[in-house]
Amino acid sequence: MKTFEDYYNRLLKMKPNVYIGDEKVDRSDPRLRGGMNIIHQTFDRAHDEKFADLCVATSHLTGEKINRFTHIHQNKEDLLKKQLMTRVLCHRVGGCIQRCMGIDSLNALSVITYECDQALGTKYYVNFKKYMKYFQENDLVASCAQTDTKGDRLKRPHQQEDPDQYLRVIETKEDGIVVRGCKISITNTPYADELIAVPTRFMGPEDKDYAVAFALPGDWDGVKLLTRPAWFQKSKHGLDAPGLLLGDAETFIIFDDVFVPNERVFLNGHSDPRQTPYAGFLALMFAHYHRHSYTGCKPAMSEVLASTAALVAEYNGIEKTSHVRDKLSHLIGTAELVFAAGEASAYHSEIAPSGTCIPDEILTNAGRRLAGEEIYNEYKVVADLAGGLCATLPLEGSFFSEEVGELAMKYLKRNPKVKPENIYRCMRGIENMIVSDLAGLMQVAGLHGGGSPQMETIAMMGRYDVEKLKDISKYLFGIRKTLPRYERPTVTPRKMLEKFRKVLEMKK
Ligand SMILES: Cc1cc2nc3c(=O)[nH]c(=O)nc-3n(C[C@H](O)[C@H](O)[C@H](O)COP(=O)(O)OP(=O)(O)OC[C@H]3O[C@@H](n4cnc5c(N)ncnc54)[C@H](O)[C@@H]3O)c2cc1C
Repeated sequence: MKTFEDYYNRLLKMKPNVYIGDEKVDRSDPRLRGGMNIIHQTFDRAHDEKFADLCVATSHLTGEKINRFTHIHQNKEDLLKKQLMTRVLCHRVGGCIQRCMGIDSLNALSVITYECDQALGTKYYVNFKKYMKYFQENDLVASCAQTDTKGDRLKRPHQQEDPDQYLRVIETKEDGIVVRGCKISITNTPYADELIAVPTRFMGPEDKDYAVAFALPGDWDGVKLLTRPAWFQKSKHGLDAPGLLLGDAETFIIFDDVFVPNERVFLNGHSDPRQTPYAGFLALMFAHYHRHSYTGCKPAMSEVLASTAALVAEYNGIEKTSHVRDKLSHLIGTAELVFAAGEASAYHSEIAPSGTCIPDEILTNAGRRLAGEEIYNEYKVVADLAGGLCATLPLEGSFFSEEVGELAMKYLKRNPKVKPENIYRCMRGIENMIVSDLAGLMQVAGLHGGGSPQMETIAMMGRYDVEKLKDISKYLFGIRKTLPRYERPTVTPRKMLEKFRKVLEMKK
């Protein structure tokens, strides 16, 4: 396992291909530091014996101890540990831990490259295993580039006016492929070692050029990162706090006719149209693993908000009132329900033929959708209990001004047991958490990250047998005489793979 310093030194050696506005910068740019501070936790806690049971795993490829953020889940315990690790690490950074996307996409690739090799005789899984060893040995950080620009939402990739609205292969050479397109809204990219590109949707036969997956170093020739960094306000008066040293970066990744060597290609419908249907399957599988990660991070986010709501209620002197208890219980209840859905999906997981463990889809999607739908209500509770001050707080300098500082502190007083400085820290923390640029981003991320709620509905309903569901009321209303024992009639991960194979068989 590597350390944060190893990782940071690697980043410093990367070629500058990050654009912030019209500036081209390298990875030492201070505006990227907040995001790196988050990744810091993922390295430090793996070397911390109090967290090692969660943050360290054993590689199924080498038998070596590895950072769990580089692990391919082998069993339900792995899924449970990944989920809990995500939850406890997110507490420490007050939100998204940012290292899950990469490993979620690699878990998806481990399932789908194997399926593709078995059916079509490709060598993707062989390449994938080699890549995975390299990834684990170097303790790499990856970002997952799934979301295409998508152009006209109602048109398929090949129907778009501009054929580059989805990432596509424009040439297959003997030693690799050339790709063109742009992935948008991609988290952590300027401080990731690697980019993992996977398709964003199902592809029909005419979309074969768009059925592509690969991995590349973040500073590869032709890759341009148009980055929007966000960070919290820094204190000028020594009131720094761990939670305010953090940040985020969202990126347009432009692939400007980029060559990808064969050993890093994991799907290519351009050279072999039979591979095209695997694009959709891969898109779904990444979304699935990523939504399972959400059942770890979103409960943490609810708890961060609940913790803040409870603290500000105490500072405002309203802690013991009944409406505060109701509102806190709602936040805690959502956190527990979403986490429970993720745990249950791990208990109902199945091992794919590749040996990778896949969580149950309906439970994962139900948990993720609840989390997404609740996010704005959760922020509302904090805003409600904090009052308006979190949005109207005078600037820090006023509280330290020789002339008006004492007066500013005097008029901050609320609960007499709480020092005004702590009230200031709390309100400033809430300002950052719910009113800032980054706060807005976290809310939209909570709704759309991992797929908009509608996408979770589609995934759930695709797996749910509604006809069997109707049997209950048919029996109760006397329309049918018997009711067979009813148990969640789901398509389990293995059945899902089998179903998919049958569909492919029929298409041949
Ligand atoms: C902060 C943040 C971080 C993110 N990080 C990543 C990341 O690391 N990697 C990554 O790959 N992606 C990432 N995403 C992207 C995220 O997965 C997408 O935002 C999400 O899948 C929705 O896609 P979209 O933004 O293109 O919205 P759209 O798909 O345009 O959705 C907008 C609305 O249109 C509806 N809609 C879309 N298509 C149709 C249709 N055909 N018919 C009817 N309705 C339709 C949707 O349901 C939704 O209501 C991130 C997003 C955010 C906000």
